[in-house]
Amino acid sequence: MAKKQNCSLSCSECAVRNCYRKDKKFPAFCLTEEIPDAVERTRKFYASNTIDGKLARAAAEIEGEYYGRLTRLEETIRFAKKLGVKKLGIASCIGLLDEASLYAQIVRTAGIETKTVICKVGSVDKTQLGIPDGLKVCPGCNEACCNPALQAQILNEWGSDLNVLVGLCVGHDAIFTRHSKAPATTFIVKDRVLGHNPAAAIYTAKFYYKRILDEKTFPEPRKEAVEAELAAAKKPAKPAKKPAKKSAKA
Ligand code: SF4
Repeated sequence: MAKKQNCSLSCSECAVRNCYRKDKKFPAFCLTEEIPDAVERTRKFYASNTIDGKLARAAAEIEGEYYGRLTRLEETIRFAKKLGVKKLGIASCIGLLDEASLYAQIVRTAGIETKTVICKVGSVDKTQLGIPDGLKVCPGCNEACCNPALQAQILNEWGSDLNVLVGLCVGHDAIFTRHSKAPATTFIVKDRVLGHNPAAAIYTAKFYYKRILDEKTFPEPRKEAVEAELAAAKKPAKPAKKPAKKSAKA
């Protein structure tokens, strides 16, 4: 396995995808046939009565029952119903709070209790994290950082059975899922440019948006933001406090 594991080819370069229907041959670099123990271990826990088993079967059942007929909004609700969710937590971005409010209303219509926590909860200014003021979207203003760990903590304490992400930023979503005790799934993925439809970048990458395949054409960061970062980096570190002189008596 080690030899294939180090191979630079992987599923993204596979043209046969034989793992799905098993009607062709596995490519030489495929790991599937080399890891029967790991395959069996995962099969066992999906078949078990653990939370992973319940999640795996609920997801597969929805696929089988409604394939291509439910929107993601409906799928998240069907998924929650199948799992017997009573309390559904919503971790929302401030920029998508209206969407989160309507989503909460729809979920409640399905008989499930909701609690929404916005990303700015706690209202901690970004400078308190060491972010230079000039790097804020609005320098000079109070600008709360996103606080996904606190969103998760509040929903954990409320006792949510399932958490749903609505538009959390790239990275903040990673923090939220690391701290969420309940399983977390996503309703809306934020994309500030593409109306929260990140896949559009891929659909247009071969023609209108082909600059994406050339790293040199990535837009430069905002000049003011770079200057703020440089200025912060040049600031001399605060001198460490001198240890108090030991008393002669001590
Ligand atoms: S056949 Fe093997 S390499 Fe191809 S997509 Fe499936 S698992 Fe990946």
